Amino acid sequence: MAETAKLNVKKNDQVLVTTGKDRGARGRVLRVLASQGKAIVERVNMMKRHTRPNPNKGVQGGILEREAPIQISNLKVICPECSKPSRLGRKRLEDGRGVRVCKNCGGTFS
Ligand SMILES: [Zn+2]
Repeated sequence: MAETAKLNVKKNDQVLVTTGKDRGARGRVLRVLASQGKAIVERVNMMKRHTRPNPNKGVQGGILEREAPIQISNLKVICPECSKPSRLGRKRLEDGRGVRVCKNCGGTFS
């Protein structure tokens, strides 16, 4: 189960990039690609894409910048309670809801 534990990242989380060319960058998770173990993070891992002009569709063409997926194992979730990049655990509440637990401050969040 060690692999699935890495998928503690959820959409709209604030995350810190821990490795790669964007190391140290922070951003919001726009999308989680669970099957690939990757996520798309706002303004992180930007890739340039060349687009051809297509007047029929009103596309101007040129260079577009887009976020490319980044490995979730290269991300750390920033805890909303203590605002620090934290290791997370999981906990099941009495009502059956699963929550994430910050191993830094002990705070829980969904
Ligand atoms: Zn915390």
